[in-house]
Amino acid sequence: MSVLSIDGVWKFFGGHAVLRGIDLDVRPHEVVTLIGASGSGKSTLLRCVNLLETVDDGTIHLDGDEITDPRVNVDEVRTRLGIVFQAFNLFPHMTVLDNVTLAPRQVHRVAREQAEEQAHDLLARFGLADKVRAYPDQLSGGQQQRVAIIRALATQPRLMLLDEVTSALDPQLVVEVLGIIRELKDAGMTMILTTHEMGICREISDTVCFLDEGVLLEKGPPEKIFSEPENARTREFLRSVL
Ligand code: ADP
Ligand code: MG
Repeated sequence: MSVLSIDGVWKFFGGHAVLRGIDLDVRPHEVVTLIGASGSGKSTLLRCVNLLETVDDGTIHLDGDEITDPRVNVDEVRTRLGIVFQAFNLFPHMTVLDNVTLAPRQVHRVAREQAEEQAHDLLARFGLADKVRAYPDQLSGGQQQRVAIIRALATQPRLMLLDEVTSALDPQLVVEVLGIIRELKDAGMTMILTTHEMGICREISDTVCFLDEGVLLEKGPPEKIFSEPENARTREFLRSVL
């Protein structure tokens, strides 16, 4: 069964159709990358999955449950998702440890001791063992973004949504964050990411989706999309970014 099924999703802002009948299935352990020009609807699609936006038509199922049903428990759905955005949204007044343990403790009711033990393990695994007591402003941008990803991981989500997580970083810091995404992939995490870095997309994706003005125009493995795109708009986009 799919982890996520998006079927015929439409989203309007004012009179403008931002998503136009999106269909997308994500299998267990699959890494799907959304590419497309700025404004093509990538972030809006992720926001619909995380229920930060309501869809105007179509359905989204997570592990078989329709999460676009108006009666759905939004908080419960979000406990199954890990989301990380471009801007680091760590809580600035909390240490790294408290940032990472907050959701497990408050949302998932994990005991402090257990949450902290798990946080220590995750931070060590991703090279941040010495930053446990640091505050976000004492970390580099790359370290902050790694903590944001670890925080999202701490609740053991079924699906990770990563929206332009490397965009705000200097090139040398991108490598650090890419490393953690690669490790997650190797560990079998199911992910949907957006990026405008085609190198990352090519390396990390099982499936690449090209969005053009709210339409999912073309989808396939990176070798196919980058070497022999079928659609003229895809070719045009890739020419402009490669
Ligand atoms: P991308 O992430 O691909 O750059 P977005 O999903 O952010 O694209 O935006 C798609 C379109 O939706 C853009 O035209 C954007 O201006 C519009 N849009 C996004 N969010 C809102 C909003 N809250 N209100 C009105 N328009 C929005
Ligand atoms: Mg975006």
